[in-house]
Amino acid sequence: MSSRRNFIKQSFIAAAAIGTLNSLEAKGLTVVPSKGKANKFPIVISTWDFGIAANKAAWEVLSTGGKALDAVEQGVRVPEADLKNMTVGKGGYPDRDGHVTLDACIMDADGNCGAVAGMEKIGHPISVARLVMEKTPHVMLVGEGALQFALENGFEEENLLTPEGEKAWKEWLKEKKYKPVVNIENKSFAAERLPGNQYNHDTIGMLALDAKGNISGACTTSGMAFKMHGRVGDSPIIGAGLYVDNEVGGATSTGVGEEVIRNVGSFLVVELMRQGYSPEDACKEAVMRIVKKKPAIAKEIQVGFLAINKKGEYGAFALQEGFSYAVCDSKQQDLLIKGKHYY
Ligand code: ASP
Repeated sequence: MSSRRNFIKQSFIAAAAIGTLNSLEAKGLTVVPSKGKANKFPIVISTWDFGIAANKAAWEVLSTGGKALDAVEQGVRVPEADLKNMTVGKGGYPDRDGHVTLDACIMDADGNCGAVAGMEKIGHPISVARLVMEKTPHVMLVGEGALQFALENGFEEENLLTPEGEKAWKEWLKEKKYKPVVNIENKSFAAERLPGNQYNHDTIGMLALDAKGNISGACTTSGMAFKMHGRVGDSPIIGAGLYVDNEVGGATSTGVGEEVIRNVGSFLVVELMRQGYSPEDACKEAVMRIVKKKPAIAKEIQVGFLAINKKGEYGAFALQEGFSYAVCDSKQQDLLIKGKHYY
């Protein structure tokens, strides 16, 4: 695209985004329209506006010469511990049977990875996923086995269901309707689109390049609220919710995990970057696979991809408006960027 046409397109997108940007700015966040940008290392990026606080924790590791793997683990532990966050970690909404079940995965620059899925009673699934990677010959442990492994390794059982989560679940039981809400982390945006609907989902996916330029990623969620017991989304699945390749870069996803799994989304984004796509164009192409294969479903749901390449260029693309991502580097610690979108 010519630079003039590109500028016009960027301006149009920026104008369309102004409503959402204003509300985010009112929260005291720095918000800029979406654009590709090269950065020096280290750098960390992550999904949604709760990524800002997560990035700050990751930055403490990166800015003192720490490894990307430690940074992403420390970073995503922040929303995992945030009781007000009802889509990640403790405080996450339960499944339809009232169990809070958590999914997470982590991947490092050497291609090592670990994951847990459907794990109950442990508030930091990302740290269990890291131990699966480092202490077992396996990649993923699920359910009871994941819990047993966590307990054997010193994690303590806790009740993850908060009074708010229980209240929301009991409210949901009255009608038992199952419909995901687009962008629930931005509550006013979600309410506007689907009034009265409180069902929700969202994930923190984080990608970091450390001072040496090595990449790691982490992804953690409580998944779709009121999901079927035993349902596993994309977030703990290497290649779907997260993928990093130290030759190319990394990608992570958020949104309705079933569509991400069907397209092996994050692996696809990384492979497209390997072929020369920019991070944003690779994310867009992955979104377009969903649109092309399932146009009727794609209109109703949110899926967003976030990617970074080895040069530190980053970008994102989502099905729907409202997807944001946070960027933190030596220049700015609390940058929030509005992701471009198809619909
Ligand atoms: N991807 C998550 C899942 O499907 C939810 C989300 O990110 O919105 O479990």
